[in-house]
Amino acid sequence: MFTLPKLPYAYDALEPYLDAQTLEIHHTKHHQAYIDKLNAALTAHPDLENSPLEELLQNLAQIPETIRGAVKNHGGGHYNHSLFWEGMAPSVTESKPEGELGEALEKKFGSIDTFKKQLSDAAMGVFGSGWVWLVRQPTDGGLAITATPNQDTPLSSGLTPLIGLDLWEHAYYLKYQNRRAEYVENWWYVVNWENVRRRMLDK
Ligand code: MN
Repeated sequence: MFTLPKLPYAYDALEPYLDAQTLEIHHTKHHQAYIDKLNAALTAHPDLENSPLEELLQNLAQIPETIRGAVKNHGGGHYNHSLFWEGMAPSVTESKPEGELGEALEKKFGSIDTFKKQLSDAAMGVFGSGWVWLVRQPTDGGLAITATPNQDTPLSSGLTPLIGLDLWEHAYYLKYQNRRAEYVENWWYVVNWENVRRRMLDK
């Protein structure tokens, strides 16, 4: 059975960029609901209950059709949110991508600022609910920006997500209402670059 991971910081630790009330509801209600529905779906297929979530999402075509949609939506929701929490940390002044990550981003996008602008633009271009991601590509390990609708995860396309930004209104509506651009802009202050760097160097 999958369980809700603890946040690596307090609910108010990302203030004023992400407010405590939104974070707590997002974590204890929205994320929990994906986990509950994923677990409920898997009770019909106990053989899959011990599979790592990554494997389920990387091989959606092999999931029995009766629960494939639930695994995609709720398993994706569980995976995406777990990654989202880890990808953030209390704001540190002048925090920026260091070492191999900084070099890889500069190589791919020309500069860190260009990378941030391109990801922010992609976030603004997501229609409805979805996510925007920095991913590592399977072929050459190069970096790319991609967006997914709903709770689809880049894992299911063979990509390795390094960081993701939740663009569902439940992620920002209480504080930002319709101002998605402001939410995106403020999210950069709480990006956990060290976590992104570690994920990039993984495997
Ligand atoms: Mn969410």
